[in-house]
Amino acid sequence: MNRAFRLCLTVVAVLASTGVFAADKLPTVVVLATGGTIAGAAASDVQAAYTSGQVGVDQLLAAVPQAKKLAAMRGEQIANIGSQDMNDEVWLKLAKRVNELAAMPDVDGIVITHGTDTIEETGYFLNLVVKTKKPVVLTAAMRPSTALSADGPLNFFNAVAVAANKDAAGRGVLVVVNDWIHGASSLTKASTTAVQTFLSPLRGLVGTVAYGECEFYRGAVGKNTMDSEFSLDGVTALPRVDIVMAHENMDGAIIDAAVAAGAKGVVIAGVGNGNMTKPALDALAAQAKKGIVCVRSSRVATGRVGRNVEVDDDKLALVASDDLNPQKSRVLLRLALLKQRSLADIQRLFREY
Ligand code: ASP
Repeated sequence: MNRAFRLCLTVVAVLASTGVFAADKLPTVVVLATGGTIAGAAASDVQAAYTSGQVGVDQLLAAVPQAKKLAAMRGEQIANIGSQDMNDEVWLKLAKRVNELAAMPDVDGIVITHGTDTIEETGYFLNLVVKTKKPVVLTAAMRPSTALSADGPLNFFNAVAVAANKDAAGRGVLVVVNDWIHGASSLTKASTTAVQTFLSPLRGLVGTVAYGECEFYRGAVGKNTMDSEFSLDGVTALPRVDIVMAHENMDGAIIDAAVAAGAKGVVIAGVGNGNMTKPALDALAAQAKKGIVCVRSSRVATGRVGRNVEVDDDKLALVASDDLNPQKSRVLLRLALLKQRSLADIQRLFREY
């Protein structure tokens, strides 16, 4: 080997080690596992009964070796719970860890495995409090890992593909399930058992992903991540906000009970355009007068709740949820209540986020 050739090899080795030949280098994706059916297990592959959060992150990664072709991956176990048990402690830990990882130059994207029951709430919460343009992608499954035709492995594979894709950056926190890429502000769970459970009814899909092939249509709707004015710096607890569902013959007892239990805000899952009976509205307005922030959302699957339609929000000091459903309205209101704000400012948040 002559000197010139040896020198050439050395230069190639140095360039490779500094990542200049980035085309050869896989993106790094960190997987944060929280549990859910995607990590669930049943005694047989054809039974409905199962337990969420049985499989650890290492097993989850090992179950989808195909994803190693898309990204260099490492995993961390944040929790291992059914997402019906999701709580503020896990939320604060998860958001902190996402922000830490996203700030690391060698991390290109983050995948979070989660249960489907509350993924829309966790996704929307992260959408408001993580400060990064890097892809943050939640995924889940409707069938446990042991089921015949489990949906988790392909959902996981697709989520890694989206997190590793540069075009996913700057679109807010995303949720990838069953080939669809949803904005965290848009999606809602629409079926208790079907694999095609998530819809983004008003705001539409961000994109699609088929066997790792991504197609992006648009960005997320609503302010998020880098544009968001919310921050968890110094936050150790979130204010209590309760959701009360409206129904025929409703009185104000549950609204008053929520406030008595410590709620600083109440979200009504109203009938129709955020409506409720006269006794319920009287109770709500009385709480609003005392300084409890009261938001009218809707129990209807799609559609906006507008201000001053059948309810005089201006007169009763109420907030209309715009197109946020009750569970997402609750998330936004909890963050809004971290500081003193006027009702006009809170109404602005519901229009902008
Ligand atoms: N109960 C489960 C959960 O949310 C359902 C699922 O993941 O599909 O954790």
